[in-house]
Amino acid sequence: MRILVQKFGGTSVADLDCMRQVEAKVRRGLAKGFKVVVVLSAMAGETNRLLSMANQWAKSPDPGEQDCLVATGEQISVALFASMLIDSGIKARSLLGFQAAIKTNEFFGRARILSIDSRKMIEMLEKYDVLAAAGFQGVSPDGRITTLGRGGSDTSAVALAAALKAEQCEIYTDVDGVYTTDPNICSMARKLDRIAYDEMLEMASMGAKVLQIRSVEFAKKFNVPVHVRSTFTDTPGTLVTKEDHRMEEVLVSGIAYDKDQCRFTLRDVVDRPGVAAKIFTPLAGAGVLVDMIIQNTSRDGVTDMTFTASRNDLEKTLAILEKIREHLGIKEILHDLHVCKVSVIGVGMRNHSGVASKAFTALHDENINILMISTSEIKITCLIEEKYTELAVRTLHDAFELEKNGFTG
Ligand code: ADP
Ligand code: ASP
Ligand code: MG
Repeated sequence: MRILVQKFGGTSVADLDCMRQVEAKVRRGLAKGFKVVVVLSAMAGETNRLLSMANQWAKSPDPGEQDCLVATGEQISVALFASMLIDSGIKARSLLGFQAAIKTNEFFGRARILSIDSRKMIEMLEKYDVLAAAGFQGVSPDGRITTLGRGGSDTSAVALAAALKAEQCEIYTDVDGVYTTDPNICSMARKLDRIAYDEMLEMASMGAKVLQIRSVEFAKKFNVPVHVRSTFTDTPGTLVTKEDHRMEEVLVSGIAYDKDQCRFTLRDVVDRPGVAAKIFTPLAGAGVLVDMIIQNTSRDGVTDMTFTASRNDLEKTLAILEKIREHLGIKEILHDLHVCKVSVIGVGMRNHSGVASKAFTALHDENINILMISTSEIKITCLIEEKYTELAVRTLHDAFELEKNGFTG
């Protein structure tokens, strides 16, 4: 049995006309002799609508009930789509996360897939030509509905492709591939024909929401080639795949940005062994994803500690910091929501110098102040004021001439 997994995001299933375009893509897969597993997101705006309802009904929504609520967005999409297909004579049915045996841990709102028992779906594919599976959702060990974090339908699709040993996994969206940067904020962005898993991982983790980071981790681990392409055109998209030598010749291949950032500064923390552990262990325990961390040099036995985390974790983080404040002698806890992370990414920068200085110079030429810097062997990240985001992205894109073939030094 040849299986094709196709995933369609929120804008691709926004209304009946959009769903007709989805049907056309599915029919193309069927015509090639595939059984098609279609993974759908909630209709555009629906997840946000449900989340805001959850927050109107409760000051602090119960995470399990919130997941039970937001997962309904995907349920609507698959039921409507399956009935549309059945109506036009295709053997199809819908599947929710638990029916597709997508088992996750119990971390509501950001659950991780633990296993998928593909036997039932394979059996169903003997009887049906198309299975419309709800993205974004799974079932916890004690049978409750969980969701996989924003953008989680990408992960559902890649995980299903791996479990079903699908021949291909196509991610259909509102842009026609992965670009050198977000084409919606930089008109010079260039579509990439291929991108290495590691590079895509960095792009996704640095904010390029075209693929959820967990989906790229799955793709890399199980070696699933992922084809990102447009629902609304027929142009070939971008293949996310294993690195090849050609890719290494390019020093910089993309720029990503992430506005979901908050900067915290702890003034005058006592400087003794174990202090960082005392700050970051309770934050990790509460599920706060801390990102960039800077500790200043010590002066008179105290130091300043600065770090960033997601804006969604603001209240949680402040509450934890208040609890440890006295014990660690912290004089002041400051936070700033008007910041953004901009990253320059490329697997080829591993063995080269000069990329960081070029990025800093370009930002300086536009008078953009850098608040924090962090690097890995294949990326350079600067925290800047949020109001300069678009300017910084375009400036860096220009500086590394990404509208051409990628920066080769
Ligand atoms: P979907 O609802 O189909 O999952 P998303 O909105 O989650 O779509 O992801 C697609 C969006 O990702 C695009 O509209 C684009 O604005 C954004 N994006 C950010 N960085 C990139 C990039 N490097 N290449 C392509 N799209 C990007
Ligand atoms: N509907 C979910 C979200 O908006 C999952 C997804 O679209 O991938 O985040
Ligand atoms: Mg998405």
